[in-house]
Amino acid sequence: MNSLFKGIADLFFPPRCLSCHELLISGESGGFCPKCLQRISFLSPPICASCGAPLSPEAGKDALCLRCAATRPPFERCRSVGRYETVLLEAIHDLKYRGVIAAGAILGNLLASCVRVSLPVEEYDRILPVPLHRKRLRERGFNQSLLLAEVLAREFSLTLDFQSLRRRVHTSPQIGLGKGERSVNVRNAFEVVRKAEIEGSRILLVDDVYTTGSTVGECARVLLEGGARSVSVATLARA
Ligand SMILES: [Zn+2]
Ligand SMILES: [Zn+2]
Repeated sequence: MNSLFKGIADLFFPPRCLSCHELLISGESGGFCPKCLQRISFLSPPICASCGAPLSPEAGKDALCLRCAATRPPFERCRSVGRYETVLLEAIHDLKYRGVIAAGAILGNLLASCVRVSLPVEEYDRILPVPLHRKRLRERGFNQSLLLAEVLAREFSLTLDFQSLRRRVHTSPQIGLGKGERSVNVRNAFEVVRKAEIEGSRILLVDDVYTTGSTVGECARVLLEGGARSVSVATLARA
């Protein structure tokens, strides 16, 4: 935003913390007050080198979680900002279910700072949000993952691509399903519709929440099958 415009806008609508709605003191940026920021359980090493799951303190840099050691997920690696609880959970719910669109930019910036330190951004050339089915998109009016991906694309000068991957099946909500049921639920739910755009590209896939990894895993599988060179994943929260 133009800084003069932002200055004027701040006079009339002074920035408030997204979580507790306290006024932010000038200089406090990022959309959260320091107190709420502290309540976010940020994920930091040691984490699984593949899926980013938190590991026990003695785990080494290249250690894998048990699940990835048994079967590597289709994506190269996944990194997330923090645990899906308290401040992060509420903010994601504000965005998804209460339509607080402003949360998209704030959470997008939070995700960008995580990606900057945890993923080799210079190795990607295309950024894709996990698509919503058109029926869900109609209900919600926007794709929350696209709002996040927009911020990352701008921040890292990557091509934003929300057209090449399509959700062709309207799956029932994943809430309450176990890992096995979730995989069945999303199996073949996605398809690559612009193969030429995907072929040979190194993709950063963006989603809001990583639960069992079935959704991003299935997207990655379809993208690789469609000719993508690699797929990595960034999500805001991790259940
Ligand atoms: Zn706060
Ligand atoms: Zn893992």
